[in-house]
Amino acid sequence: MTTATAFAPTTGTQSVPTGLLIDGTWRDAADGRTFEVENPATGEVLSVIADGGPADADAALAAAVAAQQSWARTAPRTRSEILRRAYDLVMARQDWLAEIMTSEMGKPLAEAKGEVAYAAEFLRWFSEEAVRIGGDHTTTGDGTNRIIVTREPVGPCVLITPWNFPLAMGTRKIAPAVAAGCTMVLKPAAQTPLTSLALAAIMQEAGLPDGVLNVVNTTNAGAVVEPWMSSGKARKISFTGSTAVGKLLLKQAADAVMRSSMELGGNAPFIVCADADIDTAVDGAITAKMRNMGEACTAANRLYVHRSIADDFSERLAARMADMQVGNGLDEGVQVGPLIDAAGRDKVQRLVDDALSRGANALTGGTVPAGAGYFYPPTVLTDVSTDSDLMTTEIFGPVAPVVPFDDEDEVIRIANDTDWGLVGYVFSQDIDRAFDLSERLEVGMVGVNTGIVSNPAAPFGGVKQSGLGREGGKLGIDEFLEYKYLAVPRRRGASA
Ligand code: NAP
Repeated sequence: MTTATAFAPTTGTQSVPTGLLIDGTWRDAADGRTFEVENPATGEVLSVIADGGPADADAALAAAVAAQQSWARTAPRTRSEILRRAYDLVMARQDWLAEIMTSEMGKPLAEAKGEVAYAAEFLRWFSEEAVRIGGDHTTTGDGTNRIIVTREPVGPCVLITPWNFPLAMGTRKIAPAVAAGCTMVLKPAAQTPLTSLALAAIMQEAGLPDGVLNVVNTTNAGAVVEPWMSSGKARKISFTGSTAVGKLLLKQAADAVMRSSMELGGNAPFIVCADADIDTAVDGAITAKMRNMGEACTAANRLYVHRSIADDFSERLAARMADMQVGNGLDEGVQVGPLIDAAGRDKVQRLVDDALSRGANALTGGTVPAGAGYFYPPTVLTDVSTDSDLMTTEIFGPVAPVVPFDDEDEVIRIANDTDWGLVGYVFSQDIDRAFDLSERLEVGMVGVNTGIVSNPAAPFGGVKQSGLGREGGKLGIDEFLEYKYLAVPRRRGASA
C-alpha cells in the first residue's frame, strides 16, 4: 500500500491520503491491515486504506494528549486564522471534495457541492467564534472576593462521525474543537473515510500543528473507540450517529465521567395544516424528504396532512417525486443517488412491504429496481396505518408516508408520541397556528414553512433520545469549553 506523505489534490479519489494521520504523519496501520472503500452506485473499489486497530488508537490518543497543553495556549487569533485558511482551501477544492463524497457515499454531485459549502461554513463560523470566547467577572455577595470566570478547552476529544454527511459532520465537530483549543482523535465512518482523510490533509495544509487532529480509519469501530473511552485521558466524546451506538458510548462515557455531545437519530413529523400553501408544503416535503436520498437525521419521516388537502398534497408530491432522476450521483442531472449499502436498501424495502401489507397504497415507487447499485425509487405511500413499522422507525430512504389528520390536538399528540425529538416541520399560513404548533412539538428544531433547518449559525440538536447538546451557532463552541472560576480576595480596607 502506498501511504500518501504529500498532499497534492488533483481530481478523483486517487489523490486522497490512504493512511492514518497520527501526530502529523500519515502512517500505515501498526499491523499493516487495509480495507477497501467502495462506490455504492457501482461497487467499484475507490481506494485501499489503512485499517487502524488498538495500537493505532493508543498512538493517536497519545499524540492528542501530548499536544493538548501547548495547543490550549495558542493565541485565539492563530486558531482563528487556521480555520479561516481551511475554509478558503475547502471552498477552493469544492469540486474535488464533492466528487470524493459522491463517489464513496452516493449523493448527487449537486448535493455534494452543497454539503461542501455547508461544511466549509462551520470552519468560517468558528474561525469567527475563536476570538470571541468570553468569561465573567463579579464580586461575592459580602464584597470580599472577586469572582473571575474563564473558559478553557475541555481537553482531548473523541470525535465520531457517520457516513451520511461525511464532510459536514466532520467540520461541525473539528471547527469548534479547534476554535476552543482542544486536540482530537477522529474516527470516521468505515463507509466514507476518504472525505475525512481529504479534510484532515486540508487542515494540515491550513497550518494545524501536528497532533492536534489525529484520524484513525477502521473497520472495527469498537476496537479503536473503546480504548479511547476507557483511557481516562480523553475528556470529551462528540458523536453523530444512531441512537443505539450513542447509548453505548454514553455508558462508556459514564465510567470515565466524560463530557458528552450526542447527535442521534430522528423521526421527524412533517405537519401540513388545512390553511397551508400546498405548493410551499410540497416544495418543503421534497427538501425534507429527498435531501440525501432520505438518508438524513432531519428527514421528514411521517407526513401528517390535514384531511381536507391530503389527496391533493399526496398527488402533487407523488408527481414531483416520480419525476426525479435516479442514478449514479456523478452523472449529470441525477437527483437521487443509491442508498449506502444492501442492508440500508433491504431495510427500506422491508418497511415499505410492511406498510403495504397493512393497507397502504403506493402512489409511486415501492419496489427495488433491477440492476447494479443500491438504488431505491422515490416512493409516496397513502392510507398508511399508524401502527406500520415505518411510523416508529427512522426510514433512511426516499419514502414518504402520508397520514391524514383532522384536528391539531390529535396531530400534536401523535407527532410527539415517539422516543425521538430532533426536528419537526409545520406548514400553515396562519402565523399564530404555526407558532403554536411549533411550541407544542417536543423537538430541538422546527422548520416553519420550510423543509430545511440546518445552518452553521443555528444551534443544531435534539431532545429526548435524539441527543444531548448543540452543534453550530453561538452554542457550538460551549460543548468544547469548561468553566474555571478564580477566587481573588479584594484588598481589605479598600474604599468601596
Ligand atoms: P452508526 O451506525 O451509529 O455509526 C456512526 C458512527 O459510529 C460510525 O463512525 C460508526 O463506525 C461508529 N460506530 C459504530 N459502532 C460503534 C461502536 N461500537 N463504538 C464506537 N463507534 C461505533 O450510524 P450511521 O448508520 O453511520 O449513521 C446514521 C445515523 O446517524 C442515523 O440514525 C442518523 O439519524 C444519525 N445522524 C444524526 C445526525 C444528527 O445530527 N442528529 C446527523 C447525521 C446522522 P462504522 O462506520 O465503522 O460502523
